[in-house]
Amino acid sequence: MALGLPSRLPDRVPTVRDLLTAGERSFSFEFFPPKTDEGERQLWRAIRELEALQPTFVSVTYGAGGGNRDRTVSIVERLAHETTLTPVAHFTAVNHSVRELRHLIGRFADAGVRNMLALRGDPPGRDPLDEWVKHPEGVGYAEDLVRLIRQAGDFCVGVAAFPYKHPRSATIESDTSYFVQKCRAGADYAITQMFFRADDYFRLRDRVAARGCDTPIIPGIMPVTRISTITRSEQLSGAPFPPEVAARFEAVADDPDAVRRLGIEHAVELCRRLLDEGAPGIHFITFNQSSATREVFRALHPVGASAVSGSRAPAMT
Ligand code: FAD
Repeated sequence: MALGLPSRLPDRVPTVRDLLTAGERSFSFEFFPPKTDEGERQLWRAIRELEALQPTFVSVTYGAGGGNRDRTVSIVERLAHETTLTPVAHFTAVNHSVRELRHLIGRFADAGVRNMLALRGDPPGRDPLDEWVKHPEGVGYAEDLVRLIRQAGDFCVGVAAFPYKHPRSATIESDTSYFVQKCRAGADYAITQMFFRADDYFRLRDRVAARGCDTPIIPGIMPVTRISTITRSEQLSGAPFPPEVAARFEAVADDPDAVRRLGIEHAVELCRRLLDEGAPGIHFITFNQSSATREVFRALHPVGASAVSGSRAPAMT
């Protein structure tokens, strides 16, 4: 089922796979497609501010449907054409036939995009825990999407991982089995759902390693900048916020500046421990804001020192 896309891909633009294979650490930032013009201006301000940090890649999430999806594609195209950044396009199977999915893969290839994050996607309604219904001519799982992208050309493909299991998975064991199956279908690396306790990441990594799978799993980190982030993270991840971490924030809940300071301090502590214990990098969920991410990044990379064990990830343009 070759699509003839490889000829359209640029020759040897390095991929996330190349970097991780070389034993480098990956530092990346995630953005979402905004709905308004002001949101779009804020997004590009954040992108320009974070570009200076020379991340390994930046990723753009893919919406549940409508114009939001076109925005993802056009932001990724603009990142590829107008910045020095390496874009990773999030890509979901929701409401797409296989034919449409192939068309989109071709569009990304035309823009020179070689890195994709293959996701099944959440149901398009309001509740991410609703029943997921496959498009009648589409695919059912991220694993199928990984295969589709692989068959289309020499792409580097990432997938999602869930430290507390996917909210719809029956058990941790079945979640781990399907994750490993998805990696074996051709994933080069995974990025986790946000989490706030290093041990939860290590447990996921151990479960996966125990099944003989060595796909690098990059931790997804979101610094807490206000108390409402805690509730929001629970809604987004479907997992309870660790009570001992929540207690630290509750102790300063009346002081927004103190909450923000603690959020940065906690994110730095978490990232340091993850990196010290072998995590292949950090993927920052930015919500299109740059300042908290920059503060955490700078604390991990003080000027003139190599604070992170291993070298600073080079820019991949
Ligand atoms: P899958 O790997 O397909 O798993 C979905 C469920 O099916 C799991 O319970 C799994 O255990 C089970 N399963 C998997 N394979 C099989 C099988 N062969 N047989 C039976 N059961 C199986 N959503 C968006 O809409 N847009 C985004 O941009 C986006 N970005 C994300 C980025 C990251 C880093 C993460 C962690 C999540 C992101 N999501 C995004 C959310 C994600 O799409 C949802 O959580 C979705 O419900 C699951 O996607 P998945 O790729 O993990 O699915």
